[in-house]
Amino acid sequence: METVEKTIEKLRVLDKRITPQLIEVLKVMEGNTSHPSAGDVYEKVKKIFPTISLNTVYNILKTLNATGQIQEILIDRERSKYDSNVTLHHHIICNGCKRIDDIFIDLVDLAKLPDVIIAKYNIKDYHVDLYGYCKDCKDKGSQEDSQT
Ligand SMILES: [Zn+2]
Ligand SMILES: [Zn+2]
Repeated sequence: METVEKTIEKLRVLDKRITPQLIEVLKVMEGNTSHPSAGDVYEKVKKIFPTISLNTVYNILKTLNATGQIQEILIDRERSKYDSNVTLHHHIICNGCKRIDDIFIDLVDLAKLPDVIIAKYNIKDYHVDLYGYCKDCKDKGSQEDSQT
């Protein structure tokens, strides 16, 4: 996502209705690297618009995702998370608290893909998800890794 102002301009071009609530959601998402869920965004927007519903926030996030301003992350099966960074990057997810951090280095050597895949597909995008336990969860001793 670019700045709030630039994103509003883009949405105007796409004929999307610009509401004060939408602008507030954009403010929450701008530069936000915490990958919030709709509920997280709702909690913040509610401070400015106490009567806003979770559903409204959810619909705004859906519109922003559909227009490519933010991206929906479907890692957590219970709830979608939203990423204001739509450039190519990867994620590391804590199995304990479900926090998501960004990884900005290249994790895939596309040249190493089997020829049969290269021949069949024109690869446009890819995403690598790493899983583990963050330091906080480790310190709390909530690591439930039975493989160790
Ligand atoms: Zn954690
Ligand atoms: Zn991210």
